[in-house]
Amino acid sequence: MNDFGSLHYNAIGPWLKERFGVRMVKLSLDAGLSCPNRDGSRGTGGCSFCLGGSGGFAAQASSPELIASAAKQQIELLSRKWPEAGYIAYFQSFTNTYAPPDRLRALWDAALSQPGVKGLAIATRPDCLGPDILELLAELRERTFLWVELGLQTSNEKTAAAFNRCYSNAEYEEAVKALSKLGIPYVTHLILGLPGESREDMLASAAYVSELSPFGIKLHMLHLMRSTAMGEQYLKEPFPLLSLAEYSSLAVDILERLPAEITIHRLTGDAPGEALIAPEWARNKHSVLNSIQQEFSRRGSFQGSLR
Ligand code: SF4
Repeated sequence: MNDFGSLHYNAIGPWLKERFGVRMVKLSLDAGLSCPNRDGSRGTGGCSFCLGGSGGFAAQASSPELIASAAKQQIELLSRKWPEAGYIAYFQSFTNTYAPPDRLRALWDAALSQPGVKGLAIATRPDCLGPDILELLAELRERTFLWVELGLQTSNEKTAAAFNRCYSNAEYEEAVKALSKLGIPYVTHLILGLPGESREDMLASAAYVSELSPFGIKLHMLHLMRSTAMGEQYLKEPFPLLSLAEYSSLAVDILERLPAEITIHRLTGDAPGEALIAPEWARNKHSVLNSIQQEFSRRGSFQGSLR
C-alpha cells in the first residue's frame, strides 16, 4: 500500500503540516559561522564541491539582532503568500554548532523569538557535536521542535577522502548515536553522482544511513559550482555526470529501499544560478521532481516498496 498519495514518498512538507496543522515554511538563515574543514582545525579548503555549506540562498547575519531581523524580513515576505504559515528557522550555511554554546544559544533564541517560528533546523558536522553542544541541543529539544542536519554525502570513505570531507564514518556513527540517545532527530544529506561512485556505492550509502534510523534524509545531485575545487577541476578536465534520467532512476531506487517512516527533506538541490557549471538540468527543480514522480508511476512503486 502507498500511504503517501500522489507523491509516492514521505515528504517532509506534508509530514510537518500534519504535525503542526498548518503549512510550515523554512527561513534560511546564515549565522556567519565558519567550518573546521575550512579554518585549518580539521582541514583547509573545505569539501571540494562546497560553496559555503548548503546555504547559497541564506541571509547572512552574524549577531542575534541581525538573525532576528533577517528572520523577521523573511516572515514578512512569506506571510503575504501564506498568511497562516508557521516557520522553521533553518541555520543552513557552513557549520552551525561551531561556536561557544552561549553564542549559539543567543543566535537560536533570536530566531525562536520571532512570531510564528515553531522550531529550528541546524546544519552541522558530526565532529562539531561535543558534550557541551549536545547538552545545549538537548535543552533546546525540551522547549522547541528541532532537528539537526549532517552532511555525510557518502559512506564510501575513499570518495569522502577524495572530496576532502575530513571526518570519518566512525565519527558520524558516534554523533548520530549520541543524538539519538538524547532523542534529538537528525537528517542526513547524501549526494548522488560524486566522481567515481557507482550505483552500488550510492545504494550502499543510503542503506548505511537508513540502518541508523535517521528522522530524515536529503538527496541531491552533485552540483559543480564556480570557485570550488571540484568545479575548477571539472572545467579543466570534465568527468561523467549523471543525466536527469539516471538521477531520477537512482533516487527512486534509493527511496524504494528506505523505511516508509524516514522523512524525505529534499530530492533536488538549490544551486545559485550564476555559480552553477553543471549539470544544466539541475537548474529546473520542477522538472527534476516531475521526472522522479514519473519514474515512480512508471514502476508503480513508492518509498519502502522494496523492503
Ligand atoms: S563540512 Fe559543510 S560547510 Fe564545511 S566545507 Fe564541507 S560542505 Fe562546506
